[in-house]
Amino acid sequence: MAGLALVTGSSRGIGAAIAVSLAQEGVDVAVHCRTDREGAEETVRRCRALGVRAQAFFCDVSDSAQVERLRGEIHSALGDPLVLVNNAGVDAFGLLTDTTDAEWRRVMGTDLDGVFYCCRAFIPAMVREKWGRIVNITSMWGVAGASCEAVYSAAKAGVIGLTKALARELGPSGITANAVAPGVIRTEMNARHSAETMAALCEETPVGRLGEPEDVAAAVSFLASERAGFVTGQVLGADGGYI
Ligand code: NDP
Repeated sequence: MAGLALVTGSSRGIGAAIAVSLAQEGVDVAVHCRTDREGAEETVRRCRALGVRAQAFFCDVSDSAQVERLRGEIHSALGDPLVLVNNAGVDAFGLLTDTTDAEWRRVMGTDLDGVFYCCRAFIPAMVREKWGRIVNITSMWGVAGASCEAVYSAAKAGVIGLTKALARELGPSGITANAVAPGVIRTEMNARHSAETMAALCEETPVGRLGEPEDVAAAVSFLASERAGFVTGQVLGADGGYI
């Protein structure tokens, strides 16, 4: 597999593992995040070590003007990505009744608006090529709903609806759109949980362990590949059987 992929939020965690996994398949990678420059450069270094082109780009995906600027920067530096992995995300924890307008906007802005802005910016080049792969990172909570994570669950459920609609809209253009729904994955996002909470989550996971970023990356690499051309509009769980 060749070509160029944009992996949003690939400075660390799941996004970094996806970038490296695609690089292993011979795909050039536009590495991206908002502020984590050190992490992004480390991902770039790991991708280049695998023999592909890689470069870091920075923008806030919740700002449509910044996403448009990102599109231009990637186009000038590396070309147009025909694989788009919308991975950048933030979570929030608390009762819905305690959630402020600002908190709702913060999570929706990154987790749902950001996916919309990136799809809108990068789909036209895929349509011109009559080939593309969109893989959106949702969450098992977007499928099942999580107590005290209503905003996050709503944003991630929105991503699933967007993905299914895009699969229908873009199928005739040779573009697939799928979502991957991770379970509990060991990244910085889960660092706020106590050891006891993580042990309990592990206990509830049928395969008997927590997920690693590479577990999610393997699912994404398949959906981004040439051989997944007849798979579209799907939500692939990478959750160890949790849901
Ligand atoms: P991390 O917090 O480890 O990494 C998040 C990445 O997203 C970073 O690169 C971060 O960069 C970037 N990012 C966050 N907000 C923005 C923004 N507004 N604009 C641009 N980049 C941004 O998270 P994970 O690796 O754990 O999660 C990756 C994805 O997987 C998310 O969508 C998450 O919701 C989803 N997920 C994670 C699960 C888990 O258990 N970890 C489970 C289910 C889903 P910067 O710091 O520079 O903003």
